[in-house]
Amino acid sequence: MPMYQETLVILKPDALERNLIGVIIKYCEDAGLEVLDMRYCKKVGLERLKKHYPDSMALSIGKKAQAAVPSITDPEAHGVKVLEKLRGYFSRGPVLAIRVGGDDAIKEVRRVTGYTDPATAEKGTIRGDLGLDSIERSTAEGRAVENLVHASGNPEEAEAELRLWLP
Ligand code: ADP
Ligand code: MG
Repeated sequence: MPMYQETLVILKPDALERNLIGVIIKYCEDAGLEVLDMRYCKKVGLERLKKHYPDSMALSIGKKAQAAVPSITDPEAHGVKVLEKLRGYFSRGPVLAIRVGGDDAIKEVRRVTGYTDPATAEKGTIRGDLGLDSIERSTAEGRAVENLVHASGNPEEAEAELRLWLP
């Protein structure tokens, strides 16, 4: 039985720089999801960023890097560096936070978003079709991978993130 849910999508600075707001929202609408609210944030502050991307994420980021670049020997240390760059990426320009609702919205939005690394994200997804970057390249250049969108990963994240971004 599908369950009605609400989740958070954030269009990251590269999405706005590339004028992809309409295109990305269409991926969500075509999946049967509905836009319920949105907020344009001209510049995200560090305090909010540290709540959205907490220090505790470092290891999982490092492991994703290791999956793409096996020569990484210390995923935690690598993740700490990337996390700092990630906060820089997220605050280099305006972002658009969107409340999206629908049946199984959390999982559906993740499906439409695609995997973190645009190079291996599934075709038919936002990151797979529109993403230009890869974890391999961003790792070589010492930065976070640019992948256009953030989407809450589970019900706990969705609730906390909606409260943080669209109270
Ligand atoms: P997702 O956005 O797919 O849920 P995470 O929550 O793991 O991915 O990471 C948050 C963001 O950090 C990603 O969307 C991406 O921009 C960046 N990122 C994650 N892992 C890496 C990595 N190994 N190298 C570079 N950037 C990364
Ligand atoms: Mg995530």
